Amino acid sequence: MLGTAAGPAATGGGRGVRRVPGAGNPVYGTGLRRHHARMTTNPPPMTTSAGLAAARRSLEALALGDAFGERWFPLFRERRQAVNEIRARRTPQEALWHWTDDTALALALHRSLDERGHVDQDHLALCYALAFDADRARGYGHGMHLLLPQLLAAPAEWRTLAPGLFDGGSLGNGAAMRVAPLGARFHEDLDRVVEQAGLSAAVTHAHPDGIAGAVAVAVAAALSARGEFTLEAVADRTPEGPVRDGVRRAARTPFATEPWRAADLLGNGQRIRADDTVPFALWTAARHPDDLEAALWATAEGFGDVDTTCAITGGVVGAATGTAGAPAEWLRRREPLG
Ligand SMILES: [Mg+2]
Repeated sequence: MLGTAAGPAATGGGRGVRRVPGAGNPVYGTGLRRHHARMTTNPPPMTTSAGLAAARRSLEALALGDAFGERWFPLFRERRQAVNEIRARRTPQEALWHWTDDTALALALHRSLDERGHVDQDHLALCYALAFDADRARGYGHGMHLLLPQLLAAPAEWRTLAPGLFDGGSLGNGAAMRVAPLGARFHEDLDRVVEQAGLSAAVTHAHPDGIAGAVAVAVAAALSARGEFTLEAVADRTPEGPVRDGVRRAARTPFATEPWRAADLLGNGQRIRADDTVPFALWTAARHPDDLEAALWATAEGFGDVDTTCAITGGVVGAATGTAGAPAEWLRRREPLG
């Protein structure tokens, strides 16, 4: 199982069964209220208004990327059709674009930070578990189907359960896909971004590569919000390992490269690992830092785990742009955040 080369076993072994999600239950139910009653409460530190605004921009764009990217899976259109439509920049015509686990967990993280002001890992573990429980058919990977039900019953057990997942912790892309709004929120303090991103990851993704993926994406979103986003600067703040190596490789990949070819070089998330997902998603974001629509089309050209790569790209670019420049028909079709 797992270990080193850690293939699908360490990432969760692929995605869960997908269906068109129905209306979910409220994320915050009696479980969270009971949990709050047991917890010591500290007043949340102030988050600046600039941080909150950037976080909201990033979250909206992450959800748009997630819902847009999901349209290109074979469940909705076969590959040849998808290739042709992406090449023609033809907007998917389905009336409602549902978002998936990427957005569900990004919302959980965002709301936990709103409430606590910082990453409170026990609180966050319960928020992730409640989001999962509210609608389990959002395309979660196998690892989260194993872990999150256990955290629902015992959130503080993430300390042993997350590292025990696949005998060493998940190195999947799940911690990276949800974290861009956190980076945007704390963009005024990059050391804090690195610290908080790592804490948000470890609750479910204890493997150093899973954590590094989250740090890289959060730093990218923070730099985007600051108007300072470069792949070199992201690599400089990413922990050593294959994610950082991949981001450095992305930095050396000219933007004149066609996206499908860059995906071949950098990975497209097909292996559902952080190091197979984050470098390409950040490359397209850095290629189109001021144009969310262009960034998402370029990311879609890479296929692979395309809702997740688009969620990451959207969250990073959107930290600067928000969704105001996205086509109105995309925004109409995207499932509301509630
Ligand atoms: Mg997803």
